[in-house]
Amino acid sequence: MSHSISDELTALRAEIPEGVSLVAVSKFHPVEAVREAYDAGQRCFGESRVQELLEKIPQLPDDIRWHFIGHLQTNKVRQLVGKTSLIESVDSERLLQLIDRESERAGVVTRVLMQVYVAREETKFGFLPEELLEYFRERRFETLRAVHICGVMGMASNTDDIDRVRADFREIYTLFRTVADDPALGLRGFDTVSMGMSGDWKIAVEEGSDMIRIGTRIFGPREY
Ligand SMILES: *Cc1c(COP(=O)(O)O)cnc(C)c1O
Repeated sequence: MSHSISDELTALRAEIPEGVSLVAVSKFHPVEAVREAYDAGQRCFGESRVQELLEKIPQLPDDIRWHFIGHLQTNKVRQLVGKTSLIESVDSERLLQLIDRESERAGVVTRVLMQVYVAREETKFGFLPEELLEYFRERRFETLRAVHICGVMGMASNTDDIDRVRADFREIYTLFRTVADDPALGLRGFDTVSMGMSGDWKIAVEEGSDMIRIGTRIFGPREY
């Protein structure tokens, strides 16, 4: 027997430790599915395409916090700015600067996570760990005026090799801590590490994640 969205959410919430926030990844699922999760108490949702997000927003309650989690094309930034509670997938400095410029223009502050790329994952978007360290150590964030960098997001390799997955999460978390704990950087509100999806979130949480992004487990398989 198949479980309903609200059943899955309830079961999942019972498993997630306190202090770990849940982003329900609703990409490719209809507004009715989002509504069902909303009615079950979920308020934070993740989408990976700007067009789909912009279509969903006006059809759903306005206390939903939307996270953008997909690769963001530079020509879509202006449309997205002001619509999100968090952009989790900033994968280049150029994109970050553009988000900053468009946010300033729109009179908003955009909260973002820096996407980290550790080898062997599905998509190749993101900063290499050494690139991200360099970005912070050279204090290039100081030019930002309308962006708040809240932490990092990363994905583990898409493999059944649990040791590999764990090592990837550990590498992302270590990088996060290195930046967050560096007193010379003096970053404020750099406190979020988003790791873990339907298949690997438990390992991610064991390795320090405090934000998990779950789609399939809640909504079932996506139809692309
Ligand atoms: C689609 C997606 C998810 C959700 O993946 P599931 O395996 O369906 O839980 C999480 N994070 C990102 C960045 C995604 O693109």
